[in-house]
Amino acid sequence: MSDLKVQAAVSDGRGGTVVQELVLPPKVSRLRVESSAVCGTDVALHGGGLKQPAILGHHVVGRVDQLADADAAALGVAVGSRVVVEEYVGCGECVECRADRYRLCPSVDLWTGGERVGMIPASRGSGLHGGNAGYLELGVHHRVHPVPDHLSIELAAWALPLANAVDWTIDTGCSGPGKHVVVIGPGYHGVACVAAAMASGAASVTVLGRTSSADRLDMARALGAVPELSDDGAVRRVLDRVGPVDIVVDTIGSPQTVATALALLGRFGVLVMAGLAGVDSAIDPTAIVRNMLTVRGVRGRSPEAVRRAIELLADGSTGLDSLPTHFVSLEQVGETLQAMGAGKGPVTPHVVIDPWLLVEADTAHSRPLEATP
Ligand SMILES: [Zn+2]
Ligand SMILES: [Zn+2]
Repeated sequence: MSDLKVQAAVSDGRGGTVVQELVLPPKVSRLRVESSAVCGTDVALHGGGLKQPAILGHHVVGRVDQLADADAAALGVAVGSRVVVEEYVGCGECVECRADRYRLCPSVDLWTGGERVGMIPASRGSGLHGGNAGYLELGVHHRVHPVPDHLSIELAAWALPLANAVDWTIDTGCSGPGKHVVVIGPGYHGVACVAAAMASGAASVTVLGRTSSADRLDMARALGAVPELSDDGAVRRVLDRVGPVDIVVDTIGSPQTVATALALLGRFGVLVMAGLAGVDSAIDPTAIVRNMLTVRGVRGRSPEAVRRAIELLADGSTGLDSLPTHFVSLEQVGETLQAMGAGKGPVTPHVVIDPWLLVEADTAHSRPLEATP
C-alpha cells in the first residue's frame, strides 16, 4: 500500500481557495467523496470565519473506500458502503456523546471553540477533514449513516439539510396531519423545512420571503407550499387564508421575523427558532403568554432525524428532485462561495460540489441531470 494523492480545495478563510494535492497515508480509513453540499455556514467560513486554512464542506456523502479494523467496528459500516457523514466528530466520552446527543459535545460546539468536519485545519494530519476534496479521512468518532445506492447524487446530497428540517419542523415543531405550518425564509434550510412539513402531512404550508427571493418562493411552491411576500400585509393574508398557525419555523431570527411569527401563531402554537439574525432583539412576551406558546431553539439534528431524512428521500416523497442542482467542481469552489457571499450565487439553493467533476474554466457550470450519449 502506498500514499494516496488527493485533490482538495483548501480555503484560507480570507476569501481565497486554491486546489492543492494532499497526501493520505496508507491504512488510514477514508471516504471517497461523492458530493459536498454548500450551506450558508460555508459562505461565512470562506469569507473570514476560519482561523487557519481548511478544506470546507460539511454536508458530505460518499463511499467508504478503506477501513482500519478499529474504525470499522465504531462506524458500523463496511468498505463499499455509501454513507452520509455528519460534521460532528464528538469526543465519544462526555455526557452528551454517551447519550447520542453528540451534536452538543463541547468538542464540536462552535460557541466554545469546538470544530467540525469542514473547518478542521488543513495543517493537522493529512489535512483531509472536509468534503471539498476527493477523499475524506475517517476516524473512530465520525458518525455515518447508510444511504441506499438507488438514490441519485442530487437527492442524496439533500440528506443533512433535510435531516435538519425533519428535526426542526417535525420533531421540534410537531408538524403532522392537520397542522398549519409557516416557514420564514426560503433559503436552503427553509426549502428543506417546506419539504419536511409536506412529508409530515401538514394541512397547509406557507413560506414567507422577500421579493428578491421570488425564484426560491417559486421552488417552494413546486414543493406544495403557498408562497407569500413578507410585506406588511403578510400576517393578515395568512390568517385570512388558514387561520391561526400551529407551527412557525423561523430560519431568519430577526426582530421582524420573530414578531411576525408571534402574530401568526394560535393557541398552543410552537415557534421554532432556527436562525440568529437578531441577537439584540427584545421579544414582546405578550403573545407567548396569552396563546400559551412554546418557543424552541434548535441546533443541527439528531441521528434519528438523519435516518428519517434518508428514508424520506429514498421513498421519493419529498419532491426535492423537482429542484435544480447546481454542480460545482473543486476549481470553482472559491468563485462560487465568493459569489454566494455577495448575494450573486446560483438561483437554486442546492449547490453541490462534485470533487470528480472536471470542467473547462470557461464552460457552463451546471451539469445536465441526465448524461447525453
Ligand atoms: Zn451546513
Ligand atoms: Zn463528547
